[in-house]
Amino acid sequence: MIVQSLIKKRLEKLQSLLFEFMTSESPYTFEQFVVNLTDEIKSFSHSSVCAIYLLDEWKGRFQLYSKGGAAEESLRIHFSLDDLHNQKTSEPDVHQLIDAKSVGSSLRITSLYSEGTVFGYLVLKGASSVQIEDGFLGAIGLEVTKCIKKIEGFYMSMEEEKKYELLYKVTSHFHSSIDTDGVLIEIIETLRKTYPDFQYYLLLSNDYTKDNDLPVRELTYDMDLESSASTQAYLTGEVQIEDHLGEKRSILYAPLKGKQGIYGVLKVVTPDYLYFPKKDVEFFIFIANTAGKALENAQLYQQSRKLNSDLQLINSTSQKLNSNMRLTEKIRYMAYKIQQSFHADEVGFVTYEELSSHNVLEGSTEYFTSSESSALVHYVMESISHQEGPLFISDLEAKPIDHVLQYRSLMAVPMKDHEHISGLAIVLHKDPYFFTFESFKLLQSLVAHSTLAFANSILREELEKAVITDYLTKLHSRVHLDRCVEQHVKHDENGSLILFDIDNFKNINDTYGHQVGDEVICQVADIIKTVIGDQGLSARWGGEELAVYIPVLPSEKAHDLTEIIREKIALSTSPAVTVSCGIAPWRSEWLRPDRKQIVQQADQALYKAKSSGRNRIVTAHPIKEKG
Ligand code: GH3
Ligand code: MG
Ligand code: MG
Repeated sequence: MIVQSLIKKRLEKLQSLLFEFMTSESPYTFEQFVVNLTDEIKSFSHSSVCAIYLLDEWKGRFQLYSKGGAAEESLRIHFSLDDLHNQKTSEPDVHQLIDAKSVGSSLRITSLYSEGTVFGYLVLKGASSVQIEDGFLGAIGLEVTKCIKKIEGFYMSMEEEKKYELLYKVTSHFHSSIDTDGVLIEIIETLRKTYPDFQYYLLLSNDYTKDNDLPVRELTYDMDLESSASTQAYLTGEVQIEDHLGEKRSILYAPLKGKQGIYGVLKVVTPDYLYFPKKDVEFFIFIANTAGKALENAQLYQQSRKLNSDLQLINSTSQKLNSNMRLTEKIRYMAYKIQQSFHADEVGFVTYEELSSHNVLEGSTEYFTSSESSALVHYVMESISHQEGPLFISDLEAKPIDHVLQYRSLMAVPMKDHEHISGLAIVLHKDPYFFTFESFKLLQSLVAHSTLAFANSILREELEKAVITDYLTKLHSRVHLDRCVEQHVKHDENGSLILFDIDNFKNINDTYGHQVGDEVICQVADIIKTVIGDQGLSARWGGEELAVYIPVLPSEKAHDLTEIIREKIALSTSPAVTVSCGIAPWRSEWLRPDRKQIVQQADQALYKAKSSGRNRIVTAHPIKEKG
């Protein structure tokens, strides 16, 4: 009883002493506080040795705190608590360690508990003649525990406060930031301020282009040993920790997680630590998530800006293309727009009906108009028909193309509009790996939006041609000839209209059939076209009647050309036919006629040629007076 009450009294003294000590306003660090605590206990308990061992969660071992006399120094060197700790006692206990080599005689030890686990030990050795009773030692242990836990909580909340203050500053900044690099720089700076001893890396996918000092590494997806933890973090979105016990090194991989995806991995390497304590893991998860969300914001913003500018490009191009432009103008405009938007060197548009031949549309850039491009275009056509989709080649060098190429990057997109057009847009650059996947996607949209406009122009131009071309002979149509004559007689000084009618053509049809009849009409048309060339305009007048208008040449010249034609037809058609020809010359000095008068004259001359025996030429008398 006496002992009990004595202990109680001494304990009360200890409590008030510790209370005073804790509430003093000394600017100690936690470490200094514990060291000073040992000093207080040492003098209070009349001990020759006093030390407190506390578990360092990072290093996974006990660290000694003491004021550091010679005896304590010797403890530091020779005395390990591992064996004692490994007994894993769960009740307050007091140990007597006999033969502790370091200090020459027995040490008294009690464990320090909190929430069922030992977090430290108090080691005492009574000064000579002083006995430290078990009960007293246990009681000191409890008081020291309370004291340390209180102070630890206080320091921790101070530290946390500092940490979260930093974090708060960073996050509020993130939410207003739209610049990916800025966000990443802030993250690294905050981490370096909070845990300056650690190394940090940002593992980002390879489409991040680095132009700063950030510790960015490429995120590798291979499942080899080196990268498996980072890959896991990236794929699963869970923190991964690798504790390298042998190397005394821990690595933490925290995914940079946003709401819609994972944008990379934060890698934290701790030197000289074995384990990552839980509360710090939480901190890294928090900062990685904050970073992930900020990166997501920045990326979404950049994407929406990009999308906006892409849409503007598509919109303005479509508008322009849907205006009333010729195909050549449209192609030239598109080639220019693509060169401008993608920084492309060459842009070509080709159409084809079969793989063996293609037609480069006018308006494509220079390289495509040279024969040099044929091998490449052919390769692209083959590849596209094979894979039935667009083509993206980062480096052409490795491709089997029978031609030395000065271009390395290629994008090609098919142009398809129902059955009307079958073609390709090809975009080239001299450097390998030049185009991004984004520009490839944009090119596809652009081409998809312009194909209809191209098809419209192609159709319209074909239609225009059809109207002025005779489908059988490919000579001009009568409508077209009429229009031309009308213009010429108004503006020129002279000219001649010549009508040809195949003689006894019914016989050809009757003898050989209609199809051969058609072929003969074509033979006659070809002869006329060859002889006249671009000296005049050849047309099918109707049925087996053909016509030529020769502007400017004197009528004798027109007669000569007609004679050549007549002879050639008689000689080289098969089955052989002859033609009768009526020429109507005009000169403004005689009389400027209208189209109808000239036609009438030519008709009359032809009639005369027929009635006077066929296979001959009759030139009409020019009209010299109105009437
Ligand atoms: P001629 O002109 O010498 O007086 O005798 P013809 O036998 O040629 O008589 P005409 O010019 O009056 O008749 C033209 C015939 O040509 C009538 C028609 O059957 C035939 N014909 C007209 N157009 C075509 C055509 O596109 N193809 C074929 N195969 N025959 C045609
Ligand atoms: Mg006829
Ligand atoms: Mg005839």
